[in-house]
Amino acid sequence: MDHSPDVVVTGAGGFIGGHLVRSLLADGHSVRAVDCKPVEQWSQLHAEADNLRLDVSLLADSRSAVDGAGTVYNLAADMGGMGFIERHKADCMLSVLTSTHVLLASRDAGVERYFYASSACVYAAEHQTSPDVTPLREADAYPAMPEDGYGWEKLFGERMSRHFLEDYGIQTRVARFHNVYGEHGTWDGGREKAPAAICRKVATAVLTGDHKINIWGDGKQTRSFMYIDDCVRGTKMITAAGDPNPVNLGSSELVSINELVDIVEAVAGTRLERNYDTSAPQGVRGRSSDNSEMLHRYGWEPSITLASGMERTYSWIYDEVKKSLA
Ligand code: NAD
Repeated sequence: MDHSPDVVVTGAGGFIGGHLVRSLLADGHSVRAVDCKPVEQWSQLHAEADNLRLDVSLLADSRSAVDGAGTVYNLAADMGGMGFIERHKADCMLSVLTSTHVLLASRDAGVERYFYASSACVYAAEHQTSPDVTPLREADAYPAMPEDGYGWEKLFGERMSRHFLEDYGIQTRVARFHNVYGEHGTWDGGREKAPAAICRKVATAVLTGDHKINIWGDGKQTRSFMYIDDCVRGTKMITAAGDPNPVNLGSSELVSINELVDIVEAVAGTRLERNYDTSAPQGVRGRSSDNSEMLHRYGWEPSITLASGMERTYSWIYDEVKKSLA
């Protein structure tokens, strides 16, 4: 393929990156997909893309990654669910190297548009102390007291994107992703998030006949979860649009973890005995996305229901668990 692609996706071997590459290819773009993992370990490998193994925490690799591109989606980060980010704060903060070097390289290469994947973890815990949540508005990120480690790095990455736009004119766009789930997401190994972990536990119970489930916390903590197709659609929309200010990209359908387990049990056609591990990492008490700004700007918000997204996700994870047990 031509070595100057329209679009570069970093973190392309990961969950969201793999889906984004597929969607950009389907839109007719030429895509360079970049990740530091060996390509055999990418969650999806799209043969039509130019797939490169590069470590974009290094400036030289970042320069090779973005060379010739018009748009860069920077999704590379060392991250995972609560179990990972609460125990790997230094690793999470080291993603500042990828955020910085991909942005610097993009500026120097004359990239027109740069997308940065931020997170709902930029919001202060004091707004998230009750399961009966007031959805988070963009302005709630300040005064700043993000999630320790991971959230601070994301907030820094956001502000650096903004200053690169102001000082150097590169068109930076930022979305604050709220809990994304779907097929090809990490489902075991310690980096998985609640939806995938629950699907794995339910599938394991069904396949082994041990009808018990271990739930982190008391199950009453609340969250909203966005299906991957909504995430990809919103990401492309935000990147193409004019407004550079960070915007929430998340679902506003609030559920408790117990309700999430109910949904997966219903999909799997089973009921499990629930054990609650209150010593496990749980994160904030309640979190949901206020989508007023998204609706105001784009007349659209993530709308795929948890019931339908979890049905597709469970079916994929069930097959993966079955293969791993075999
Ligand atoms: P993921 O872990 O599946 O993918 C991230 C990918 O980045 C991995 O494949 C990893 O190998 C790669 N990577 C890490 N360091 C790299 C480096 N130095 N060079 C090249 N590649 C590197 O995560 P994801 O769920 O796909 O998340 C994508 C982005 O969205 C991340 O920036 C993440 O912080 C952000 N985000 C995700 C969620 C979510 O719910 N999944 C929520 C908020 C924000």
